[in-house]
Amino acid sequence: MWRAFFVEWHRFESIQRDGRWVMRTNRESTVYLYDLSYESLISMLSSWGYGTYHANKIWHYLYVKMVESLDQMIELREDLQNSLKEKTWIAPPDVISYQQSSDELTKKYLIALNDGEKIECVVMKYDGRSTACISSQVGCAMGCVFCATGQMGFKRNLSSGEIVAQVVFLMRRLEKEDERVRNVVFMGMGEPLHNYGATMDAIKIMTDDRGLAIGPRYVTISTVGLPPAIRQLVDEDRPVNLAVSLHAATERERCELVPISERWPLRDLIDACRMYADKRNRRIFFEWALIAGVNDSEAQANALGRLLQGIDSHVNLIPVNPTYGFDELPTDEETAKRFQGVLARYDIPSTVRQKRGIDIQAGCGQLRSREELNSPSGSKS
Ligand code: SAH
Ligand code: SF4
Repeated sequence: MWRAFFVEWHRFESIQRDGRWVMRTNRESTVYLYDLSYESLISMLSSWGYGTYHANKIWHYLYVKMVESLDQMIELREDLQNSLKEKTWIAPPDVISYQQSSDELTKKYLIALNDGEKIECVVMKYDGRSTACISSQVGCAMGCVFCATGQMGFKRNLSSGEIVAQVVFLMRRLEKEDERVRNVVFMGMGEPLHNYGATMDAIKIMTDDRGLAIGPRYVTISTVGLPPAIRQLVDEDRPVNLAVSLHAATERERCELVPISERWPLRDLIDACRMYADKRNRRIFFEWALIAGVNDSEAQANALGRLLQGIDSHVNLIPVNPTYGFDELPTDEETAKRFQGVLARYDIPSTVRQKRGIDIQAGCGQLRSREELNSPSGSKS
């Protein structure tokens, strides 16, 4: 009995959360199941002496039934269930805070990861075509001046499992309302192409037909624009969408808003985009946060029109969301329309997107930064 107690005891650890000590399964030396591709799950089980049949069942539990704990995998053989409990883990994320927009269509969650770091994910309901907006990193190293995540700095990359788990979590939430996630956009915290491997591994898992089955064409990678990574994307076998956050069409202006532009100039970025659009025969979306008096002039619109000549593109214009660390204001509707009018002369389609859920600070990183400002220490990372 004492031995059993000792063995059990080692499967637990105590951690401090919000000033309180809580017990949870020791996860340090165990495998996070969402980190495994289908093939890795098969080979892990095979090394334990189980065949593909069992791997399929577990995959089904993870991504079709979307169970929240290993205990819910009730139809597995007891010995396999025990091995899973000993060597692997899954858990529903701890929701630190939650907000919804006044129309209840946008819901935003701040969730804690295993090590206590916090990330945001958002679900936007729209006509049965719900979109999950997920994070790829804790913080971001790119430092765009208007972005709450950029203002936090970089903490760490997410693992592929931590990325996938956000989709599972949001899918579960929607299931209660008889809905599914149809679109996934990497527009939460972090720069997905700065965490290339985990992003690609996560996309492979979420698009797997045997599980979450998100159509690759409904997945959008949004990037600040890292030319080598965009070139690498050309050879990927999954045809996902690419959105490039441009924000300015001349070198000097872009460097002021997007400091990484000093390392990767616009010239190089557009070159990589041209190659991507040509070789993949795909339209590229260009994101542009409209900031009053900063990047909303007709001169910038003309420069953008010239820059994108010959690239199959669509420009998304988003009046900037105010953040604590950036004082500038969003462009008004009339100026946004004028900007669009200039682009139309270059035959470039564009949309002015009101950031949905603006009343819940749906801009990337804003919930976390608000939580930190409100925390007792008021610390900012
Ligand atoms: N790092 C990636 C994806 C995360 S940011 C990228 O930069 O594309 C997702 C989108 O939100 C980007 O287009 C980014 O420029 C935009 N964004 C960030 N902060 C914003 C703000 N305060 N107002 C409007 N858009 C913002
Ligand atoms: Fe990073 Fe994107 Fe924010 Fe820029 S806009 S700091 S790349 S998350």
